[in-house]
Amino acid sequence: MSLLESLPQTCQTVEIIATLWALQHAPREQNLTIRSSKKSVRTTIMVRLGAMEDRGWIGIPDKKPLQALVAELRARGGTMSFLPPDQKEDRHILTGRSEAAILAKTDCDMLPKEIRFDIDPTLRVLGAKLATLTQATAYAGIKERRVAVRRKATDNNINLIKTATQHTFHRLPTTPQIWKSIRNRDFSRQVKKFLWKSTHSAHRIGKFWKHIPDCKHRATCQFCQELEDLEHILLKCRRPGQAQIWASAKDLWLRKYGTIA
Ligand SMILES: [Zn+2]
Repeated sequence: MSLLESLPQTCQTVEIIATLWALQHAPREQNLTIRSSKKSVRTTIMVRLGAMEDRGWIGIPDKKPLQALVAELRARGGTMSFLPPDQKEDRHILTGRSEAAILAKTDCDMLPKEIRFDIDPTLRVLGAKLATLTQATAYAGIKERRVAVRRKATDNNINLIKTATQHTFHRLPTTPQIWKSIRNRDFSRQVKKFLWKSTHSAHRIGKFWKHIPDCKHRATCQFCQELEDLEHILLKCRRPGQAQIWASAKDLWLRKYGTIA
């Protein structure tokens, strides 16, 4: 999925991207006037950007293009005005707006390809300003970050499960089938919990300890000196006993079911 596809598909987003595109393509010393009939877009860009940056962009759906827009504005020598439509140009603006709405609803691929969302590190402000951060915003920010990290890890694990299942059993499970199988009645509560936590990478192992002061050493397997993630613990660790346990597990399985598949 491209970044453009991952953005909210609204008229507001399209107008913000169009503004970003104009900023990226107009000479930086030139004064620029951009006209938009959408008051919310004008207010967002001319009034609210500073406050959104101070809040660390928490809860802002269009934060990617807006962050890139702030960086472009900082890099400009010329001024930028963002105004409502001129009477004489009204028709043109209205046509542009309906085109933007159609674009937003139908096909993201039609948006300009040469939009850049990467930001010059010298123009980027990271995090939120403590003075403007309320407890509620901070909590929303923590939740936003946790969900993003967790989702990426979960997606990776689900893909891993799919690949492994196809390789071993020659059938490709769907994502809902995988989640349903974890809740199977045949599993005890502890096993269900273990599988759920494993799929979400929620165990306090490996990477979890990397950023915790005084506990960083816990991230590494002391025997193999490698990252102690679940894959290492279950499959790759060279501690004595690992191979025997797997051999016994295989033996037990074959005795009960007759076949691996
Ligand atoms: Zn190890």
